[in-house]
Amino acid sequence: MLSKPLLDLLSRKDIVETLLHEMIHAYFYVNNLQDDDDHGTRFRLYAHYIDNMSGTKIKITHDFHDEMESLKRHWWLCDGPCGMLKKQAINRTPDTKAHKRKCGGNFVKIAEPDDAPAKKRRKV
Ligand SMILES: [Zn+2]
Ligand SMILES: [Zn+2]
Repeated sequence: MLSKPLLDLLSRKDIVETLLHEMIHAYFYVNNLQDDDDHGTRFRLYAHYIDNMSGTKIKITHDFHDEMESLKRHWWLCDGPCGMLKKQAINRTPDTKAHKRKCGGNFVKIAEPDDAPAKKRRKV
């Protein structure tokens, strides 16, 4: 279960605000938007806009980034030319049709949490 450590680490509000923060990054990335810094003028503008609408207070720093990263314990590595390493919090292959077309490789699982249900462990 991944929801438990997440809730242990962060309050529900923090989680929402962290996710919104990451979503702004994703939005910039997908739309190829430039900013003057990692969390520059444009990022702050978007964060402020969402804050005003939803009453959140999106953090402009990455205080919680490491905690979120540490929860991404399912790792896949592409065996194709791109050699991409994908870390995800959920046990789902990062394979996409777009990647298949572009790279042709397959994502091979290289790491997963000890408590992953798919993996049967013998108690020592
Ligand atoms: Zn950020
Ligand atoms: Zn690839």
